[in-house]
Amino acid sequence: MYKTVIGLEIHAQLSTKTKAFCSCRADVFELEPNTVICPVCTGQPGALPVLNEKVVEYAVKAALALNCKINLRSTFDRKNYFYPDLPKGYQITQYFTPIAENGFLGFKFDGDEKRVRIRRIHIEEDAGKMIHQDADSISGASGSLVNLNRCGVPLIEIVTEPDISSPKEARLFMELLRDTLRALDICSGDMEKGALRCDANISIVDEERGLSSNRVEVKNINSFKFVEKALEFERERIIKALETGSDVNRETRTWNFAKRETISMRSKEEENDYRYFPEPDLPPLQLSDEYVERIKERLPELPQQRIERLIREYGIPEYDATVLGSNAKLSSFFEEVAKSTDKPKEASNWIMTELLREINRRGIPLEKMPIGPEHFKILFELLEQEKISVKIAKELFPLMIETGKLPDQLVKERGMEQINDEKLIEDIVLRAMESNPKAVKQYREGKKGVMGYFVGAVMKETRGKANPAAVNEIVRRLLES
Ligand code: ADP
Ligand code: MG
Ligand code: ZN
Repeated sequence: MYKTVIGLEIHAQLSTKTKAFCSCRADVFELEPNTVICPVCTGQPGALPVLNEKVVEYAVKAALALNCKINLRSTFDRKNYFYPDLPKGYQITQYFTPIAENGFLGFKFDGDEKRVRIRRIHIEEDAGKMIHQDADSISGASGSLVNLNRCGVPLIEIVTEPDISSPKEARLFMELLRDTLRALDICSGDMEKGALRCDANISIVDEERGLSSNRVEVKNINSFKFVEKALEFERERIIKALETGSDVNRETRTWNFAKRETISMRSKEEENDYRYFPEPDLPPLQLSDEYVERIKERLPELPQQRIERLIREYGIPEYDATVLGSNAKLSSFFEEVAKSTDKPKEASNWIMTELLREINRRGIPLEKMPIGPEHFKILFELLEQEKISVKIAKELFPLMIETGKLPDQLVKERGMEQINDEKLIEDIVLRAMESNPKAVKQYREGKKGVMGYFVGAVMKETRGKANPAAVNEIVRRLLES
């Protein structure tokens, strides 16, 4: 038996207005290169950093949401390395004493209670970005360019303990973390835009032989899907090595999107020695209990709490609660519908399938959709009173969204009422039997499948409005008589 051991190091970009240690704006994604820089974030001699208070507030919010112990006194340190995207020659981080430690994020996974411990959360600044280009087809020019806009953009790094036991679980953890950071309104959570990045560490334990593989780190994963894919690839690769009695190298790899595999970047021996030392330009950060308490009091309801509450208060399944509870707007809409219809399970079904489909298809956010609880209330009543079939209800749904009209009005306008008239249905079935005696014979000889032919005939003639239960019942009765 092989056991998978995974630990994540996550960088989350904080959505503050300005950078971590200067007053340049921080939302630099897609801005003209090198236009959002100043002497501080580009490390000019004599320029001094000043800590952005919002960065501290956001880091404390994340730490509380992840159940961490806050270090009221934390320190800033320099992580030294040379690379053109880092003109200062060092990154300001919190190495010796981070702002928070020893937390956890709990969630349900396949029915089990899962708890991933958080080792630490620290504040740091981002570096710039290199753009490497191959020979240009027109000018023939090749080379590397640097964009320093991202220098000094505030990040928190969240380091987990190696408590994650499968690639799928790693993905789930990342998604829940994103939803949590979004609920706190401190990070956009967009992995595709680099606002949330993840380095994934994985090793495999061979439980029979009682040995553990080397650990591999996959760097800079930029999508939730790739977290899972890259780790699955590594898991297979490591197990293969163990089975031949060898092991993989202790190294850093990267996910190659095009080849759908990981490739080696460097071995651990080639790692930088960062020569960390205390940042002399920033005093230690000293927080008070009252400050932390004030932030704690104002924390919003977090996705995991909401998911648990939805299960408890509305009796919906864990899966439904997870889909609905991950997003504050969606779940409060669900709650309104569930309350006004008094049918939480139906509400969750319709919202998760039909409503989410329309939102995705039309690219219109929920708050701009011209429908509310009243629409669902009437729709459910029409269904319950058998005035419409489920099939018709599903046709009505997009019409409701297009027009904003209530379903009973649409049913009237378009003559979509369900046909429950047994006599009428019988007539259609009898006519179909007359015109296709062969099918009747087949049915009576035991080919029960031809029943569908007669049901189809009724549906066709009534344009889908016949009550399906009644049609089935009548078709069977007439064929068997
Ligand atoms: P390093 O000093 O090499 O960066 P750390 O102890 O700081 O290593 O751990 C970095 C990350 O690697 C953490 O997220 C941790 O959970 C994870 N990790 C540690 N040991 C293992 C292991 N045996 N298998 C998988 N992940 C691990
Ligand atoms: Mg580390
Ligand atoms: Zn600046």
